[in-house]
Amino acid sequence: MFNKRIKIKALLENDATEYEATVMGWVRSFRNNQFIALNDGSANNNLQVVATLGHFDDALLKRITTGACIKATGNVIASLGKGQKVELQAASIEILGDSDAEKFPLQPKKHSLEFLREIAHLRFRTNTFGAIFRVRNSLAFAVHKFFNERGFVYMHTPIITGSDAEGAGEMFQVTTLPLDGTAPKNEDGSINFKEDFFGRSTNLTVSGQLEGELAAMAFSDIYTFGPTFRAENSNTTRHLAEFWMIEPEVAFNDLEDNMNLAEDFIKFIIAYAMEHNKEDLEFLAQRLSEEEKQKPQQERTEMGLVEKLEFVVNNNFERLTYTEAIEILRESSHNKKKKFTYLIDKWGVDLQSEHERYLVEKHFKKPVILTDYPKDIKSFYMRLNEDGKTVAAMDILAPGIGEIVGGSQREERYDKLVERMKEMHIPAEEMDWFLDTRRFGSCPHAGFGLGFERLVLFVTGMTNIRDVIPFPRFPKSAAF
Ligand code: ATP
Ligand code: MN
Repeated sequence: MFNKRIKIKALLENDATEYEATVMGWVRSFRNNQFIALNDGSANNNLQVVATLGHFDDALLKRITTGACIKATGNVIASLGKGQKVELQAASIEILGDSDAEKFPLQPKKHSLEFLREIAHLRFRTNTFGAIFRVRNSLAFAVHKFFNERGFVYMHTPIITGSDAEGAGEMFQVTTLPLDGTAPKNEDGSINFKEDFFGRSTNLTVSGQLEGELAAMAFSDIYTFGPTFRAENSNTTRHLAEFWMIEPEVAFNDLEDNMNLAEDFIKFIIAYAMEHNKEDLEFLAQRLSEEEKQKPQQERTEMGLVEKLEFVVNNNFERLTYTEAIEILRESSHNKKKKFTYLIDKWGVDLQSEHERYLVEKHFKKPVILTDYPKDIKSFYMRLNEDGKTVAAMDILAPGIGEIVGGSQREERYDKLVERMKEMHIPAEEMDWFLDTRRFGSCPHAGFGLGFERLVLFVTGMTNIRDVIPFPRFPKSAAF
């Protein structure tokens, strides 16, 4: 067996010395022709592998370059160096894969995030991206753990969908018809999708919610966790064209149950990462505090990353209605001094991210759940409140990010739902399958969608969503 090795994380966590170990990994740096910093991705910290002077020939030492992959076997000894308890005294070193130091784009120095985005295929091999993607992995695992422990069924909703009820205009079309003008046409000149692969027009999903609702009407509690696609031309630090969404849907839950579930869920997965990724989060906290030092005093955040996460886990989210939020915003000095790009003058306007951020970062200084939005700025499936003007919607807003969750209690009353669909020009004929849930054994139910990358952004303290997904897709970019 070739792969008889100990992972560097396990080796570093163990205080024992004087035993033989084999490690494999990639060279981060090689100092004084003696000290190799080796990383195998299992931990943020490198293992120091010592190539004792005189023990290895020059031809081999020359091949120990940044980026090279090596195998080293030797005795684990107590380290005299700073920052590590143990190190490996190499008895043998084998080069598994050379790396031309002149050509390898990553040097043992600090690179900008912009530069690393251009070499996303190699950025996993940096401290920062190593930490980010280990945290992302933990968060994903914690998502499943949270729901599994509560008896939810993990439901796979389709990625190719024929439903165009949501997000019209921001969907990616899926077709096998030719693009050279020879696609079959109807008499009126429009494309004849009956001739297309699925015999109809199809898109990549923008949300698994509607299919999730079907499953919740049988299993009571379900969740989805899968990729979603939006062809929105938003070149922001919070939008991707391909992102992962978690969408629980729960029969018999009302809006308050929904808020409780979302708050518990967010706290659980953050706490999980804090427990299992201490080193990575400390590294990211350090990175963030160095970045903060570059900013002018008044723009710096008061809390460090770890403090911020602890605060979120240990405090209740602020809950208020859209109407109350509008009052706060309208009366704010920001509004009066015209510091908002979009001034808040009347009830009914949609909140922009500057307003959301004012509420969380300046006013409440904690995550906020806004509820009961005007029906005209929300989706057709949200439950109409008694006042006839608002719907049982909820958005969770997080400091530094803005909207992280969007959800609602769903309209379970057939007549009301159909009426809303008419008002909003949703083609009821195509949605007949969805309406069946309201025809046969309808019940109160609620759910939400959490954008996974927005949560990873929040937990890692990164500022650009393109840095928390391995291979980001956004307008004019689909590299790798
Ligand atoms: P926003 O106003 O920020 O564009 P939205 O109202 O379009 O969000 P929803 O349709 O409610 O968002 O989607 C549910 C969740 O998915 C959001 O709360 C957010 O966390 C996430 N999300 C939405 N669009 C994107 C995107 N383009 N990239 C990454 N995450 C997204
Ligand atoms: Mn959007």
